Amino acid sequence: MAVAVTPGFDVEAVRQDFPALAARVHGRPLVYLDSGASAQKPRVVLDAMHEFLANRYANVHRGVHALSQSASAEYDAARETARRFLGAADAAEVIFTAGTTAGINLVAQSWGRATLRAGDEILVTELEHHSNLVPWQLIAAQTGAVVRALPIAPDGDLDLEAIGALLTARTRLVALAHVSNVLGTVVPVRRVADLAHAAGALLLVDGAQSAPHLPIDVQALGADFFVCSGHKLYGPTGVGLLYGRLDLLAAMPPWQGGGGMVERVTLEKTTFAPPPSRFEAGTPPIAEAIGLAAAIDYLSGLDAGALQAYEETLLRHAEEAVAGVAGVRIMGHPARRVGALSFVMEGVHPHDVGTILDRDGVAVRAGHHCAQPLMRRLGVGGTVRASFGLYNTAADVEALVASLRGVRKVMAL
Ligand code: PMP
Repeated sequence: MAVAVTPGFDVEAVRQDFPALAARVHGRPLVYLDSGASAQKPRVVLDAMHEFLANRYANVHRGVHALSQSASAEYDAARETARRFLGAADAAEVIFTAGTTAGINLVAQSWGRATLRAGDEILVTELEHHSNLVPWQLIAAQTGAVVRALPIAPDGDLDLEAIGALLTARTRLVALAHVSNVLGTVVPVRRVADLAHAAGALLLVDGAQSAPHLPIDVQALGADFFVCSGHKLYGPTGVGLLYGRLDLLAAMPPWQGGGGMVERVTLEKTTFAPPPSRFEAGTPPIAEAIGLAAAIDYLSGLDAGALQAYEETLLRHAEEAVAGVAGVRIMGHPARRVGALSFVMEGVHPHDVGTILDRDGVAVRAGHHCAQPLMRRLGVGGTVRASFGLYNTAADVEALVASLRGVRKVMAL
């Protein structure tokens, strides 16, 4: 079928690069449809980390010895790879974090604590993952700021009509997902950036779900901050990226204190290193940053346009096929969707759907997806989410659909 033969993208060759896809689950071949939670890793990532840890490992930035110097050079090179991936102007704008959650908390606790005053507002949306909501609630409680939420329209797109009333002279920051982890909605970030900037607010983009599927250019997006996670990007856990505009980072106080982030320390007083070091206290995730750079290099080696076309065609096919299963209702019909598809099955709890699918080797996620306010807005307790990576195929969609038909039989519907 059409999805299997997108010119310029050979999914079967790509699948060979991911050892985990050869796994069997309950005696059945694995059908991995949970990349939105965490993606599988290509062999080049595993090899890059293994070779570094086995042969060239040392701590960075502190040693005069040769191994430490070469580890430092590799860590710096990983930052440069990340800079290119994000489209940042300067490597000092790229901070290695533990992941998206850590990046958002860093901005909330550093920029937020220094900037927010009682009555200031932070505007999020109803689409947000808890990671892009709770850190703002925490800093709001600490500063007297207020968190407001832009509603979504019934189709799962942002209700941009409502932004006029919510984006005011009191808004200091708009923090929103580039792509919804539940609905796959692609948010028109550039439009929101222009509106936010016109109102005098900054924009933080949660790119956890967009970085694996869309080309990222923080400058073209108009992002003042952008965060993403290595593990969703075919890289390792424990590492993520925070992009911040250099003038903003340079003015921000440290969040965590420790080694590596200082200039000069006396018992009385400390002066701090410039970014990015100021925000990387302690030993950073060295092997993980190198693994993430290998993942980015792997992605960069593919034809980006062909990959995107392949993924979007496959997702459309999945949406049609899943919608054709009796009793299934797809959540939302956003203007553009990437990466994920959520649905409910009439009369069956999402956890039961997920458990029955698992017996067929089909790995999906069921529940609230760390987006309880969105569940409330959609009027459901949870959904089943199939999320896709660059290695998924039309055969995976067929397996999902066949298994969903089986759910109805198991539940005697
Ligand atoms: N934001 C979004 C949109 C996400 O999908 C996720 C992960 N599910 C996160 C934030 C949090 O990412 P992490 O757990 O890697 O910090």
